[in-house]
Amino acid sequence: MKEHIFLSSPQMSAEGYEQEFIQEAFDTNWIAPLGKNVTEFELEMAEKLGVKKAVALSAGTAAIHMALKAVGVKQGDIVFCQSLTFSATANPITYEKADPVFIDSDERTWNMSVSALQKAFEKYEKAGKKPKAVIVVHLYGLCAAIEEIAALCKRYDVPLIEDAAESLGTKYKNRYTGTFGDYGIISFNGNKIITTSGGGMLLVNTEDAEEKANKVLFWATQAREPARWYQHKEVGYNYRMSNIVAGIGRGQLKVLDQRVEKKRYIYAYYREHIGDLPGLEFMPLLEEGYSNCWLTTIQLSDHCDVKPLDIMLALEQDDIESRPVWKPMHLQPVFANCDFISDMNDLQIVDAETGADNSVAGTLFRRGVCIPSDTKLTDEDLDRICSVIKQLWRK
Ligand SMILES: *Cc1c(COP(=O)(O)O)cnc(C)c1O
Repeated sequence: MKEHIFLSSPQMSAEGYEQEFIQEAFDTNWIAPLGKNVTEFELEMAEKLGVKKAVALSAGTAAIHMALKAVGVKQGDIVFCQSLTFSATANPITYEKADPVFIDSDERTWNMSVSALQKAFEKYEKAGKKPKAVIVVHLYGLCAAIEEIAALCKRYDVPLIEDAAESLGTKYKNRYTGTFGDYGIISFNGNKIITTSGGGMLLVNTEDAEEKANKVLFWATQAREPARWYQHKEVGYNYRMSNIVAGIGRGQLKVLDQRVEKKRYIYAYYREHIGDLPGLEFMPLLEEGYSNCWLTTIQLSDHCDVKPLDIMLALEQDDIESRPVWKPMHLQPVFANCDFISDMNDLQIVDAETGADNSVAGTLFRRGVCIPSDTKLTDEDLDRICSVIKQLWRK
């Protein structure tokens, strides 16, 4: 029987670094949140990426929530947010009862369109409204046009939050994603490039990074005031990463570069072996970027007889996992009342079943498939996947 192939699953280090850090936590009985692994994990990550402060949290989603609180998002505020992403990017905006305004992507980066963002700033400026923050995403490990987006945010004096949950290790002009904005967030969920089984981190790069990081720590540990009794002036959260989980993270961080190399190898392998199938295109890697290639994602042109669903079903038949591209947030029923800003002027639904429209984000969703990008894949596994896909073109 053939083995199941995962889309992207955890891979602990061959050296067993993770277990050493966990063992140390056990030996010293630091099983609680806080402890050496947490502190060291934060320092090691901040140093590796080149940010002023890093705060280890229970999830990437919690990190986005904390970033929004740190920039002062409150009820009735608006936040500009990339539409093509996982819902975890946008949900925390609603935790604070603020309103997301979704921004379309561009074809060059797949991420937030600079001109659509500009359009959004102009539209809301005319209405006398300034967003409290902009959230940009580096989807699938592809870098956004981050310098232009950061410059635009600076010009409008709006804080930038970078969702680098999928792009840890990705660089833009030799600088890590997650370090361009005022805040960056990363995720260590089970399918991310490195994992702690679950967890996240907030990266802080503001002028007052120390103060902001301390404030986030305060909220993330139940907002307990410094008093001899339990005193609370603000609503708190239980968002801190545990010392055991941080031990896994420290071990994983040691192999991050290896994981990036393997993910890039997988992407290159697919390009070489199925790259000339007519109508099939790969996600674009920017020349000025260095992508972690978290998930290799392909697009099928409308002229192609093979549809994304055909690929997903054929792979499934062979016990191989694949995924659709994220369905954009502006097309999600839960965000149906939110504004959406696109470079396209004549938006309309083009696929009744999925609700995909002709925006750039909607088109990437409609035409896309994520194919297996597990770092444990062998060349034989990759050949097996490629031959399942290729056979669809022979019909
Ligand atoms: C995974 C992910 C998150 C959330 O991270 P969690 O650690 O699962 O909470 C946020 N944004 C994007 C784009 C993600 O892929």
